[in-house]
Amino acid sequence: MAEPELVDVVVVGLGVGGEEVAGRLAEAGLTVVGIERDLVGGECPYWGCVPSKMMIRAANAIAEARRVNELAGAAQVQPDWAPVAKRIREEATDTWDDTVAVERFTGKGGRFVRGSGRLDGPGRVRVGDQVFQARYGIVLGSGTRPSAPPIDGLADSPYWTNHQAIEVEELPGSLLVLGGGAIGLELAQVFARFGVQVTVVEAADRVLAIEEPEASEVAAAALRADGVTIATGVRANRVSHDGRSFTVHADGTEFTGDRLLVVTGRKAHLDELGLDTVGVDASQRYLPVDERMHVRDGIWAVGDLTGEGAFTHIAMYQAGIVVADVLDHMRRTKGGPDASGTASVLGGAAGVVSAVGGSMSAGGSTGVPGSVPRADYRALPRVTFTDPEVGAVGLTEQQARERGINVQVGYTDLTSSARGWIHKAGNAGFIKLIADADQGVLIGATSVGPAGGEVLSALVVAVHAAVPLSQLRHMIYAYPTFHRAIEDALRALK
Ligand SMILES: Cc1cc2nc3c(=O)[nH]c(=O)nc-3n(C[C@H](O)[C@H](O)[C@H](O)COP(=O)(O)OP(=O)(O)OC[C@H]3O[C@@H](n4cnc5c(N)ncnc54)[C@H](O)[C@@H]3O)c2cc1C
Repeated sequence: MAEPELVDVVVVGLGVGGEEVAGRLAEAGLTVVGIERDLVGGECPYWGCVPSKMMIRAANAIAEARRVNELAGAAQVQPDWAPVAKRIREEATDTWDDTVAVERFTGKGGRFVRGSGRLDGPGRVRVGDQVFQARYGIVLGSGTRPSAPPIDGLADSPYWTNHQAIEVEELPGSLLVLGGGAIGLELAQVFARFGVQVTVVEAADRVLAIEEPEASEVAAAALRADGVTIATGVRANRVSHDGRSFTVHADGTEFTGDRLLVVTGRKAHLDELGLDTVGVDASQRYLPVDERMHVRDGIWAVGDLTGEGAFTHIAMYQAGIVVADVLDHMRRTKGGPDASGTASVLGGAAGVVSAVGGSMSAGGSTGVPGSVPRADYRALPRVTFTDPEVGAVGLTEQQARERGINVQVGYTDLTSSARGWIHKAGNAGFIKLIADADQGVLIGATSVGPAGGEVLSALVVAVHAAVPLSQLRHMIYAYPTFHRAIEDALRALK
């Protein structure tokens, strides 16, 4: 067996979270081994956020062009998928090649190892024949993979995950989408705008079931206007594939399509990480972490793996905390680098800590040893990039009521706002505010509209900083912006 090689930190999985941690610790002067079995950067740049948003950009251009007929004369649009597929291949993913990303990491001083990393006892990680002993810690950032529900016949069929949907070069004539969450709706709308006959099948009684019911209604209406068939409250119980097309069978009904895209959820594969060798239960759905991302002493986790929210911005936010905490831990560890090395690393640490400190709560961060920021998800923003966009932060009305909060709700329709009325074609949307009447602050908000995700930023600040309602009411909102509707919603709070 190979002798373990002593390094400062080992990072397993270089998705957005792991890559950020590994790169920043390497830049701070630590010896960092980053292990990735597939592509450095993970899901977001190759099969997630980036290519899907390129697809959405193209699909929205088609929709805007079609709106010319209502606003500015006549326009004919001939959708063509070829430039979209080319852009994803060439600009977004380098044909799914991570050479640039690997060089980005090694350029920061990191050491890259391609392979599957696995814990191998306290402080040790094995990858193939190599074993690394981490002096200061191990960071797990292995993310999640698509998971399919246990529907009879599904596992044996050639269904698509987000990977095939993103890599598609030629569009099918028809597409069944199993799952009406954010990813399902975004992709459904894109494909529909390029002429695919799309059917969304959702088990819950509404799409975007985790968001406000009003958001579900607007999103469903928008997709229907694009020609998407939406079937909610339908629990698929069998899938069949005859070599040419798929049929999804549910009680009393069935749906057929050339392709089937399954976007019903994702799963962390904890059993692959060797957690048992360090006494951590691998049978959980996600890997629980504390507010400094500790799994246990010397082990941190970051990103989707932690189950705190499957967003790139969560992974990056957590990465900032991990970097600060690892450096803090190193500073406190006896037998660390010599004084001069420590001093230069500490300089980096202070910079890192203060860089992320502004976005943390609970004591924030001063760069003083021991003052590592704690994670705070109260103002976690979520954006579904459908057209209109659905932006949300904090609690929904139902969640707030379930917590026994003295809730006030303020709602305003965007179409009747000055900007909505001016905008006309494609102006569907609303602002809904959830306030804690006792505290006099917003604890949740939803912003749906042509720029719903951008308008959300003001509401995120309000929730994050607990800005008093009296202050929000006495702000000046630029006329005629979409965000000015926030003022109307504040006025409607009751
Ligand atoms: C279609 C789609 C659209 C999305 N759009 C958005 C969006 O608009 N905005 C947003 O914020 N989020 C979006 N997301 C979510 C976002 O992609 C994830 O939240 C993000 O990628 C999580 O990063 P991560 O580092 O936790 O994990 P991942 O990106 O999953 O990376 C984990 C990495 O670890 C590697 N790995 C796993 N196990 C091992 C091992 N044992 N050894 C070595 N390597 C290993 C994997 O190969 C992978 O590269 C989208 C996701 C999808 C699927």
